[in-house]
Amino acid sequence: MSQLSASTGAIAVFGGTFNPIHFGHLRSAMELLESLELDQLRFMPAKEPPHRERPEVSAEHRAAMVEMAIAGEPRFLCDKRELDRQGPSYTVDSLVELRAEFGEQRGLCLVMGCDALLGLPGWHRWDELLDLAHLVIMARPGWHLPSQGPLAALLHEHAGSVEDLSRHPAGKVITQTLRLQDISATNIRALLQLGLSARYLLPESVLAYIAERGLYAKQE
Ligand code: ATP
Repeated sequence: MSQLSASTGAIAVFGGTFNPIHFGHLRSAMELLESLELDQLRFMPAKEPPHRERPEVSAEHRAAMVEMAIAGEPRFLCDKRELDRQGPSYTVDSLVELRAEFGEQRGLCLVMGCDALLGLPGWHRWDELLDLAHLVIMARPGWHLPSQGPLAALLHEHAGSVEDLSRHPAGKVITQTLRLQDISATNIRALLQLGLSARYLLPESVLAYIAERGLYAKQE
């Protein structure tokens, strides 16, 4: 397990394909780290995301780009456990493992954007997620929280406060409105495929990694 201070702030897990990681992810993660007073935020790249096509860029490349992007921020970590597992990358499996590692009392948060939240009822064993972790929902440009249906009920029944995240191990939902950054990996991939620059949307180190390996380039 990685080194953690003796304090008891919550640990957050930010899952995604990170294909590639960009400043929308990074800036949101930094704001969450500070506003929620987290001890650590773990980026957890999915090897085989169950709900979308397998990314054409390998999980190893995507994780390497995450590691480059977060180098120098000791409270950020790249958690590569899903790369070592066979089959679809189910978040619930990762949370079970993390819960066992951090113990029953530690506040554990699963971070997701509104877009990911809307797909939650399709996730494997989604009704167990709140037994294992809190949910932290990030506002994202163009997306709104559901106002009816099972997700609206979940948001209402489990509504919690920032303080709850470290006071309780799991079971609360909070929403955080962060500085909105209309950046998506889809848009970055499209720029690169057109041979246009994606500069200033993601770290230079990640752009250099992409260029050196010809990732996302236009196929001749
Ligand atoms: P794609 O465009 O390929 O769907 P993405 O940019 O949405 O990729 P993902 O790796 O799929 O990135 O997203 C991981 C998580 O990051 C999701 O919960 C998503 O909501 C969130 N996220 C993505 N972009 C942003 C952004 N600009 N600001 C805040 N959160 C974001």
